[in-house]
Amino acid sequence: MVRLACKKVQKKVEEELKAKTDLLISKGNRAPSLAVIMVGDNGASRTYVKNKEDACTRLGFMHFDYRFSEDVREDELLNLIDELNKRNDVDGILVQLPLPKTIDEKKIINRIDPEKDVDGFSPINVGRLSLEEECFIPCTPKGILEILKYYNIETRGKKAVVIGRSNIVGKPMAMLLMQKGIDATVSVCNSHTKDLSSYTKDADIIIVATGKVNTLYSSMCKNDAVIIDVGVNRIADSTREKGFYLKGDVDYDSFADTDCQITPVPGGVGLMTVIELMENTYLSCVRRSGI
Ligand code: NAP
Repeated sequence: MVRLACKKVQKKVEEELKAKTDLLISKGNRAPSLAVIMVGDNGASRTYVKNKEDACTRLGFMHFDYRFSEDVREDELLNLIDELNKRNDVDGILVQLPLPKTIDEKKIINRIDPEKDVDGFSPINVGRLSLEEECFIPCTPKGILEILKYYNIETRGKKAVVIGRSNIVGKPMAMLLMQKGIDATVSVCNSHTKDLSSYTKDADIIIVATGKVNTLYSSMCKNDAVIIDVGVNRIADSTREKGFYLKGDVDYDSFADTDCQITPVPGGVGLMTVIELMENTYLSCVRRSGI
């Protein structure tokens, strides 16, 4: 089995982005800026938000942080988004999901100006993606394409299976893989798919995004498949300092004697998601200032 380490890919994208950002600033433009809104104190969300803020600091981006308690009212969030939409010094607006059940997530996301929707979740950006128009591509699928590109993995004419159909991973991933220029033949599976193996068995590329451990194991795959494990599952373990460890959706160990290429968890797709968010924020800054 070959481990597709993503640290190298992330480092390459980050170095290129830092160079572009430094050039932008040296020409007298202001640094790209990201507003991050987080509600509640979910441990995983806190980690993701911290990773995003750390990336902003490393790249010299500005970031504006907004924290709310679980009982924040929907209209308070909507008012903040309206204000951020108008501000010239804000290029990207990110609302960390999930939001508490009392808040209508769709309404919040739809309120973000599509030109600042650096997560690419708003209907306008989703529509543009499906029409293959310029848009903000959702960060996780965008990062996965970057991994495939870095490792010279051919997509044209290949059979790709996406396991999971969420709006943030599965659907945009499938849309990207079928785009002109990428040219894979794509199947998309969900929890009602009968006999998952019949789809994965002859797939060249498999993207697994279910949030369920051991969704995919070696006997379900060709001996030389490329497997991208998107899942992040917290497994309780009292011997660890944090009380848990992270595991993907793939039964990694079962692939030891195969020729499959697999992204690890941790150290895989998650690293790419953050850097692609930064790339989208940079793109927004450039587009909005007409440079
Ligand atoms: P989600 O919204 O819960 O969607 C999961 C999808 O998987 C659903 O479409 C579900 O089908 C499908 N599914 C569940 N069990 C299945 C099975 N046994 N066979 C086939 N399909 C199955 O999750 P998500 O937001 O896409 O995230 C998926 C995983 O990726 C999570 O672990 C999440 O933490 C992780 N993630 C990681 C990153 C990163 O940067 N590394 C980014 C985003 C998400 P139904 O539609 O029928 O329910």
